[in-house]
Amino acid sequence: NLSKRLSLVAQQIPHGSRLADIGSDHAYLPCYALKTGLITSGIAGEVNDGPFQSAVEQVKKLGFEQQISVRKGNGLEVISKGEVDVITIAGMGGPLIASILEAGKEKLDHVKRLVLQPNVAANQIRVWLEANGWFLINEVILEEDGIIYEILIAEKIGENPYSEEDYQLEIILGPFLMQQRSEIFNKKWMNELAEWRKIVSQFEKAKNTEEVNKKKQELLERIKRVEEVIQ
Ligand code: SAM
Repeated sequence: NLSKRLSLVAQQIPHGSRLADIGSDHAYLPCYALKTGLITSGIAGEVNDGPFQSAVEQVKKLGFEQQISVRKGNGLEVISKGEVDVITIAGMGGPLIASILEAGKEKLDHVKRLVLQPNVAANQIRVWLEANGWFLINEVILEEDGIIYEILIAEKIGENPYSEEDYQLEIILGPFLMQQRSEIFNKKWMNELAEWRKIVSQFEKAKNTEEVNKKKQELLERIKRVEEVIQ
């Protein structure tokens, strides 16, 4: 059975898509998407040998070799221009996902939708999307086994989801998630606030250099802003 996290990622794939799942590991996501009739074809990309072999075996086990192509390579280098409509990248850090998109930019021309599930630092993906002409069209937040995950969905056509006044805050919290204000969202940011307060108190114990002071001030500013939304 697919995890709740990956099934929510799958739910964001439009029916009839040609999918590339980058960093696919066992290829569970493309296999599930094909089995349920969501996609007509899939590519499972993997840079590491172990996960690549797992993907090959899984696809073979299900007899999906004709429809799902397992390819070894770094990021988007496994796809050709115009080959897929949707790209999913799940279960990695936000900075790694953003760097994969940045390195493979020229492959994105005909891609209609990106479904990205960063484990941490979703803000870096929001910044990349914004800078590269992708519109965030929705966001999902979920909790599974005590871990909170975010899913970002972006398309080439859309409207600016950010407001002028709250731009910085929306980049951190997510403009859609901020609107939805789910319980999980509140929980996530209560946890983050607690972490940040701990860091502030560590800064207070540290030697009061200019650099420490600057970082502390920045963090205090961020805490204040997030507190205004969360409490
Ligand atoms: N996407 C699956 C999921 O969400 O359950 C697997 C997540 S797993 C934690 C991350 C996978 O990404 C690993 O299998 C790793 O080998 C792969 N990976 C990391 N960097 C990559 C890159 N630049 N290109 C392709 N795959 C990469």
